[in-house]
Amino acid sequence: MILITGGAGYIGSHVNKLLNNSGYETIVLDNLSKGHKSAVKWGELVNADLSDRDKVREIFQDNDIEAVMHFAAFSSVAESVEEPEKYFKNNYENTLNLLRIMKEFRVRKFIFSSTAALYGIPRSIPINEDSELKPINPYGESKLMVENLLKDESDFGGLKYVSLRYFNAAGADLDCEIGEDHNPESHLIPLVLDAAIGRRDSISIFGDDYSTPDGTCIRDYIHVNDLADAHLKALQYLEEPFNDSNIFNLGNGNGFSVREVVDTCKKVTGIDFDVKIEGRRPGDPDILIADSKKAEEILGWKPKITELEDIVESAWNWHKKIHV
Ligand code: UDP
Repeated sequence: MILITGGAGYIGSHVNKLLNNSGYETIVLDNLSKGHKSAVKWGELVNADLSDRDKVREIFQDNDIEAVMHFAAFSSVAESVEEPEKYFKNNYENTLNLLRIMKEFRVRKFIFSSTAALYGIPRSIPINEDSELKPINPYGESKLMVENLLKDESDFGGLKYVSLRYFNAAGADLDCEIGEDHNPESHLIPLVLDAAIGRRDSISIFGDDYSTPDGTCIRDYIHVNDLADAHLKALQYLEEPFNDSNIFNLGNGNGFSVREVVDTCKKVTGIDFDVKIEGRRPGDPDILIADSKKAEEILGWKPKITELEDIVESAWNWHKKIHV
């Protein structure tokens, strides 16, 4: 049995689907503060908060948990700047609770949702796992604190973990059973699709004076199914007794500018909408592109849905389904 915390959320729900389709049994722990009950179409859902240690213990008591995949966390950079304490509590302290309980029950395999936000403003592109870790917001800082804890627990406490540093997760399940549904939404692709579908009047581009060919920020959009596949491969990696704890970047390796994303959304949807140029959003680096060679070499992982048009199309199919 695999325990998936945050399995009702965007990335966790895609991983839950893939694990079930690959023959694993899962149990999802989610407090449904951000996630959706309807996204847990596979395995069992336990509505609980990680701060409720008795309830978490009960899950370990009642199930034969082989490994834990930990997605439950807050993930809005803007919110983390306004309420840092909330981020340290949920993202760090609750992970500490979970790891303590895992230790009590001698569950040693852990897969962690980490982030490119650990790298802050990178010195060089593409970014590999050895790049300097210098988060520039409490969200990234809270995830780095967990990574530091994991390293120590692995070096000295018997934990075996894989930390997966996602770049920009995007797209939706190709069968359209699950997808991205944040409230409020802050990510670029769903916001642009909101403009296409008429849920917003326009889309704002935050800055067109960056050092990039068209002046807008470049990001590495990685399809959520490819992320899910990396989690499955990370689990299989941890199932091999001689493999050590490890850390992998997960990106597409291709960068797309905000303007390219907007234009691709117009093309895929066939809908024109207003685009406004606004000031820069604080803390946005010019370019973030992953070097994911390590995941390819060690996990045998390679992203499959790499064309921006295909990523946007899957997001659009889902967007139409939930918003029309
Ligand atoms: N962005 C934008 N307009 C929006 C939302 C985002 O121009 O309404 C830009 C943002 O400044 C960044 C890129 O789109 O350069 C991706 O932002 P997102 O919030 O999706 O992901 P992040 O890179 O912050 O994790």
